[in-house]
Amino acid sequence: MTPAPAVDTLTHAFERLYGRAPAGVWAAPGRVNLIGEYTDFNEGFVMPLALPHTVVLAAAPRTDGVLRLHSANAPDPAAVVDLRTADLAPGAGAGWTAYPAGVLWALADAGHPAVLAGADLHLESTVPTGAGLSSSAALEVATAVALDEVYGLGLDRPALARLAQRAENAYVGVPCGIMDQMASACGAAGHVLHLDCRDLGVRPIPFDPAAHGLRLLVVDTGVQHALGDGAYAERRAGCERGARELGVPHLRDVPHEALPDALARLGDERLRRYVRHVVEEDHRVGRVADLLAESTPEALRAVGPVLTAGHRSLRDDLRVSCPELDLVVSTANAAGALGARMTGGGFGGSAVVLTDAAEAPRVAEAVRTAFARAGFAPPTTFDATPSEGARRLA
Ligand code: ADP
Ligand code: MG
Repeated sequence: MTPAPAVDTLTHAFERLYGRAPAGVWAAPGRVNLIGEYTDFNEGFVMPLALPHTVVLAAAPRTDGVLRLHSANAPDPAAVVDLRTADLAPGAGAGWTAYPAGVLWALADAGHPAVLAGADLHLESTVPTGAGLSSSAALEVATAVALDEVYGLGLDRPALARLAQRAENAYVGVPCGIMDQMASACGAAGHVLHLDCRDLGVRPIPFDPAAHGLRLLVVDTGVQHALGDGAYAERRAGCERGARELGVPHLRDVPHEALPDALARLGDERLRRYVRHVVEEDHRVGRVADLLAESTPEALRAVGPVLTAGHRSLRDDLRVSCPELDLVVSTANAAGALGARMTGGGFGGSAVVLTDAAEAPRVAEAVRTAFARAGFAPPTTFDATPSEGARRLA
């Protein structure tokens, strides 16, 4: 797979579409999460890395209040969509254009009315959509950094990530947390981000499995997740209810040592499972951060079982896995991987597998064989190479 579309191709396509040169070209990556799932909206901790797979977007400002959108990856790749910026409002649009339109709306709504003058945007992406690798955040963040620069707003990366999240929450209608947008906006090559979702503090930790004879594989099951389908919102609402019943602002505020007491105070079995997942998952993120900081081959290998423990919790307590993701994890571990887990929102999408580099081909082959035996479509596997976050390319 091409990691990123070429700037020249994109610029030429922009000129063909809009009859003028773009003001610039920007890129924003997809992400994979090493550990810390369903913790972001609980103001907890996550540890994603930005991928080489990116949305590349060319943009130029307009003066007539029109937002023109074109994506080479849209369901109809010939269609250029014209929207009047004055008409943009939550609920006003559906489909893929809601993501960039929502970002423009969020910027204007946050006190930057200059963007209402409009823009021409053309984009192309190598982030697979609906694969749990956050093509939606890549699209939002690419739009946000482009509009920020085109209109000279001077917003920093965390501020743009917050606005991108607002676009997805309020405009598109998906109640996602802040992890995806922060990973895409702030990713650092060669690093995972230890991110505190309360204050958006970002601590990049060097992550180079190859240096220790290991590989982190991403296995895309090809099963399209649909986060908008209510299951994600149900988990989020359950976590918020758990926090209310425990009398804390967010589940992040339940210390790991206090978990047994907290569980004893919850009457509802479902809420007990959700709370246990979130508090233990936050603890696992801290454990992995400590192991990565040690930076020895032994410490890095010890990350594996933490990943697998995280998967068990997502499967049994939060119940957001699916047969394909469970099969990746069980097969990879049986074939000698150090550990594996689903990554992203679940119900399909991708898994990550930590393995000795020497074992990686055998592990990947075992997963392919297991999928064929189960009658599942062949999965796609690639290395999770920690890459740079959103940036200007031209
Ligand atoms: P994920 O973020 O895990 O890939 P989502 O369902 O959150 O899955 O977002 C996928 C949606 O984002 C697509 O259905 C589409 O509407 C939009 N999208 C992402 N990338 C592109 C693109 N390059 N062109 C057009 N739409 C895109
Ligand atoms: Mg998404």
